[in-house]
Amino acid sequence: MTYLIEHYDWWQGPLLSGIVVFLRYLLTAGPAFLILYVWYRSRFLSHKIQARFPGRKKIWMEIRHSAVTALVFALMGVGIYGLRQAGWTQIYEEIGDFGWGYLLGSVAGLILLHDTYFYWMHRLMHHPRVFPFVHRVHHLSHNPTPWAALSFHPLEAVLEIGIVPLAVILFPIHPLALLLFASWSLLWNVLGHSGYEWFPSGFVRHPFGRWLNTPTHHNLHHQQAGYNFGLYFNFWDRLLGTNHPQYEERFEEICRKKNQQDFDKNLAHHTTQSQNRCSLL
Ligand SMILES: [Zn+2]
Ligand SMILES: [Zn+2]
Repeated sequence: MTYLIEHYDWWQGPLLSGIVVFLRYLLTAGPAFLILYVWYRSRFLSHKIQARFPGRKKIWMEIRHSAVTALVFALMGVGIYGLRQAGWTQIYEEIGDFGWGYLLGSVAGLILLHDTYFYWMHRLMHHPRVFPFVHRVHHLSHNPTPWAALSFHPLEAVLEIGIVPLAVILFPIHPLALLLFASWSLLWNVLGHSGYEWFPSGFVRHPFGRWLNTPTHHNLHHQQAGYNFGLYFNFWDRLLGTNHPQYEERFEEICRKKNQQDFDKNLAHHTTQSQNRCSLL
């Protein structure tokens, strides 16, 4: 992004950066959508959190809003570049200055910091006086698809990316750490909005798993907005009692559906095999 801003006119840099951000979104959400909603739709039906599929209009709406978000993210990138030129950030160029250990640690630190930043920002966006002007657009998706990953109002997009300027002002961060963090965040958002559950039965009660959020967790938030505000981890929702009261129950319900489909598939497979054996005899 820095290259695009440095080597093109003032309006070309942000536009090209926006296109790069949007392409990254297309290459992450696109394959997930094609696999789950087009090519293997019937194979993974038992993993679907809500039985029905959203219509074309909703899907195009998610893509449209995400395109605007990509442009907002690019403009914020220009702002961060300006801050850096003014000497206000701690972005460093040489990995050797702090070493690989620090670089990887800074990615983990960014993820933890973002989780807390997101929880409180998300709760603020659900305040009745703020919600209609900022967060309503994201909640137009009651049955989200991977395309909803960046489907925000422009003001929400500014708040969402706000963690980046905050972090680069506070801590030394290498551009590669920012790229790894942004890729992780986008992947997690695509998974959370995929509409499908992949974690196994018992995960949300497991001593480790219970601290991590699941696609069911965020899907329930899109169905009933008063609960489940967390992003990556379940710390804040557990601590402040904001998990959906039926979260674990709904999660297990989907897992039972998945297990039943696997059982039926195995049974059908064994029945075919025995029939083939009988016909050979
Ligand atoms: Zn969402
Ligand atoms: Zn929300």
